[in-house]
Amino acid sequence: MADRDLPEWNRIRWGNREYLPSKVVCVGRNFLGHIRELNNPIPEEMVLFIKPNSSISEEFLLPGEPFRYEAEIAFLVEGGELRAVGIGLDLTLREKQKFLKERGLPWEKSKAFDGSAVVSEFIDVPPTIEELALELEIDGQLRQRGAVREMLFPPKEILRESQKYFTLYDGDLLFTGTPAGVGEVTAGQKVRCRLLLKDKTILAREWTVLERKDECE
Ligand code: ZN
Repeated sequence: MADRDLPEWNRIRWGNREYLPSKVVCVGRNFLGHIRELNNPIPEEMVLFIKPNSSISEEFLLPGEPFRYEAEIAFLVEGGELRAVGIGLDLTLREKQKFLKERGLPWEKSKAFDGSAVVSEFIDVPPTIEELALELEIDGQLRQRGAVREMLFPPKEILRESQKYFTLYDGDLLFTGTPAGVGEVTAGQKVRCRLLLKDKTILAREWTVLERKDECE
């Protein structure tokens, strides 16, 4: 294949800078409400998994199999520190993940597929990370709300645990887990997320859910 035929790496925007994250490190089971709604056990240690650069998308494309959205506070790492914050949607193929989990198999097909890490642009991390919260609305109805204060593992602990196992390059992202209220959406629905600091909105992003175009046409 000629170079020009290779797909481009996906980018993250923070102000006027662009980053090519190698990966997104995600934490599973970080909010009690969500652990209960999926009947998962409370983790004995932090559950981490990875989505590669190829999973990152600024658009919300329907995966083409039963799935759920998970809204998450996302951080961009630079110089080994949490430098910028944004909104991440961890899309998960729910039937596929159930099948794999029941057999104790790796989750990648259900969690790391193309388009499974939907991201907003990023903004400077505030000095008071513990005051951040995130909301997700579908067609104007509030479905998810979660705050850093409710996390079992706060963002800096997620960073430390990730760094024990994975080199974090500049631009790599952390997804910090989802609160209760996950579910499915259909094409044309509007998914609006707001990142809040105390009660003030510091970042908002709306996605219209898009049908995936057949790339082999
Ligand atoms: Zn998640």
